[in-house]
Amino acid sequence: MKNKLALILSFCMVILLMQTVHAIPPTDIENIIRDISKDNVENILKKLESFQTRHVFSSDKEGFGIKAAADWIHEKFTSSSPKLKVFFDDYELPPQRRINRDVTMRNVVAVLSGRLSSDQERIFLVNAHYDSYARKTDDLFPKDNYDNPAAGVNDDSSGVAALIEMARTFSRFEFDATLYFVAFTGEEVGLIGSTLMAARLKEEGKTIDGVITLDMIGNIEGGNGFIDNKRMRVFSAGPADSSSRQLARYAKRIGEKYFPSAEIDCIFRADRFGRGGDHTPFVLEGWPGIRMMEANENYSRQHTVNDTLDNMDLDYCTRNIRIVSSILASLASAPPSPGITSERGRALLGRGKDSYSAQLRWNPVSSDNLAGYKVYWRKTTAPFWENEVFVGNVSEYTLEKVTIDESVFGVSSVGKDGNESQISAYTMPPRSKSTYTIK
Ligand SMILES: [Zn+2]
Repeated sequence: MKNKLALILSFCMVILLMQTVHAIPPTDIENIIRDISKDNVENILKKLESFQTRHVFSSDKEGFGIKAAADWIHEKFTSSSPKLKVFFDDYELPPQRRINRDVTMRNVVAVLSGRLSSDQERIFLVNAHYDSYARKTDDLFPKDNYDNPAAGVNDDSSGVAALIEMARTFSRFEFDATLYFVAFTGEEVGLIGSTLMAARLKEEGKTIDGVITLDMIGNIEGGNGFIDNKRMRVFSAGPADSSSRQLARYAKRIGEKYFPSAEIDCIFRADRFGRGGDHTPFVLEGWPGIRMMEANENYSRQHTVNDTLDNMDLDYCTRNIRIVSSILASLASAPPSPGITSERGRALLGRGKDSYSAQLRWNPVSSDNLAGYKVYWRKTTAPFWENEVFVGNVSEYTLEKVTIDESVFGVSSVGKDGNESQISAYTMPPRSKSTYTIK
């Protein structure tokens, strides 16, 4: 009897282990979404507000200023789960540009390692900035006293709350991909923390499969008088089928799949006009990056003493964190995107045997979670994919009598649990300028 019990128990263990080594099903993504807690978000925002300012040059005092805030974020990540590898990502900087003194730039990082081995590692990096900045009550920017109040609750404790709450929730599950949750410093004085970390990761030879910046995700009352708690904006750098643009389309598709009443509004532009965000340095390193944020901004609150918890909408902020969670969990659970170029970098798109069809080929992905591939196409003028077909576990597919001249084509990998990768789009090869010698 005892043996039988042991056998049943070990069988159950095997089932449990089998479950943890597979990517998570969409039902678990729904569990993650449900687990994001409005109360936790509120408590995190209150705590971050209590440091009074998080200006990069603020004083180092107990319970006050940026250093105390960094320590608290580190502690919060650490106490969330032993599975998170938490560390400070420090850079010692001499005076330069907008920095008028020696300063330690300190990003706070929590890494949730994926189950894939290092040679197959895929990384998604979700980030926000924890430094703050505010004009003084006389409307002047601080030049000498960096301890002036700068609560920065919406900008960008709202994003940091998302990181802390997502790190806690996600660490209850196992994913194929590795997830970086990064609270950047120095955003307000020139995207410094993100610029330095992007360069460091590049130097270390890392590849980042997607960067999601969350910066101001909790305000619903625009300074223009509009109130909008439905839309969330996604900014992405072009051109039309850049990897950032694909990530933005993915964010829209997945976000609206899990939240049909939300509107994920893609803005086909790197950021707000003339502005920048922490995704930008990663995009400049060649990685896909998007900025997700509220629908309407309020400049009478932004970078002022009025950026307080009272001026935030907690329901909207929490819903936005849940939307981002559905996107990140889908990305981290899906197989990798298929490669669609030859070794020489040419798009594997041809005209087929009859010369008038669209013949798509791709490099098969290596994943024990793969069910097959989906082919997508749309008119060159259409912003979003218009047609899709699941084609099974093959590495080529021909759309008969569809010309490759008038449509954009793409292919994604689909996991056994239904999670789908970003779409790899076949882009037109650039032509280089020719020169001729004249007699
Ligand atoms: Zn910001």
